[in-house]
Amino acid sequence: MEIETRAIHAGRNPDPATGAVTPPLYLSTTFEREADGSYPRGYNYIRDRHPNRVMLEECLQSLEGGEVAAAFASGSAATTSVFQALNPGDRVVAPHDAYSGTGALLRSLMQPWGLNVTFADMTNLAEVKAAVTPDTRLVWLETPSNPTLKVTDICEVAAIAHRVGALCACDNTWATPVLQQPFTLGCDLVVHSTTKYLGGHSDVLGGAVIGGKDSEFFEKIRHIQHLGGAVASPFDCWLILRGISTLPYRMKGHCANAARLAAWLERQPAIARVHYPGLPSHSGYAIATQQMSDFGGMLSIELKGGKKAAFAMAANMKLFRRATSLGGVESLIEHRASVEGKNTRTPDSLLRLSVGLENINDLIEDCDRALRSL
Ligand SMILES: *Cc1c(COP(=O)(O)O)cnc(C)c1O
Repeated sequence: MEIETRAIHAGRNPDPATGAVTPPLYLSTTFEREADGSYPRGYNYIRDRHPNRVMLEECLQSLEGGEVAAAFASGSAATTSVFQALNPGDRVVAPHDAYSGTGALLRSLMQPWGLNVTFADMTNLAEVKAAVTPDTRLVWLETPSNPTLKVTDICEVAAIAHRVGALCACDNTWATPVLQQPFTLGCDLVVHSTTKYLGGHSDVLGGAVIGGKDSEFFEKIRHIQHLGGAVASPFDCWLILRGISTLPYRMKGHCANAARLAAWLERQPAIARVHYPGLPSHSGYAIATQQMSDFGGMLSIELKGGKKAAFAMAANMKLFRRATSLGGVESLIEHRASVEGKNTRTPDSLLRLSVGLENINDLIEDCDRALRSL
């Protein structure tokens, strides 16, 4: 079945008790057992297993083409579970430009806990080969990356990881399973912040890890999910699953709008660079064309007038809301360097745009007015 169909049907079955077509929301934290303590219906306690979470996990695993999935309370909790499933002394190789929270997590929690971390430029395969030493157990990648949309060759990096017996995990939040299928490109794990495109409406926090194969390593992630308890709430699972129903169609709109806006922005004299993997001028265009079915709804721009011009443009936007996060139906704009703080490598002339589903002419007009008043 194609992804539009799986997005609507995977994990959902009409409720056996009522025939409800839309999944019921089960708020119960506990489930009735047999006299001998067994629970043949599969549920005993909310943290271990819950019907709304099972529906979401089945759907996510179907969308990514994996065998197993675990839903968490946030993308950050999902990411943490992957690192915690390693052992102290193991090495992780991660990109310099991973989501800033992932970098901070590695530096401030996982390194003190005992992981060895090497940061590398994942678009430079010679650098990746040098970084992936025999003690490496996990190679983390995120593509397109944040905020300059750099594109990593997933097949090549996964092969480098596998040469030393390491796992390869891909944060697929920005591309979504609609545009990029990391398992078919050789990855072992896929991670999502479902807060973004999967939820799609900027009203729910969530995350997930999906395993290409059921494995001992994935068992450990499940164990961390149950024992650590950072699980998604029933209503959050319900909202994310509802959001996923329209994901493939929303992605078509995000991609079409972002492509039009990127091409328009590239022609504006006040703009020095547009970072969008669908532009032939972008460094990742060739690889993105191979491994993605379209180029996504995220882009960033650098202004010729530096930080001052970037602040002024952000101040002049009316339709694009000045807010962090991404992947919702509404367009957002953000000065990333300010948000990322003092360790940032992001140029201060840069603005990141999450291109929403408004009419493209209105979005272009908003940018045009803001640029003309610089
Ligand atoms: C937002 C985001 C995260 C973190 O997810 P939360 O749900 O905010 O915890 C991780 N990776 C990427 C690429 C993100 O955009």
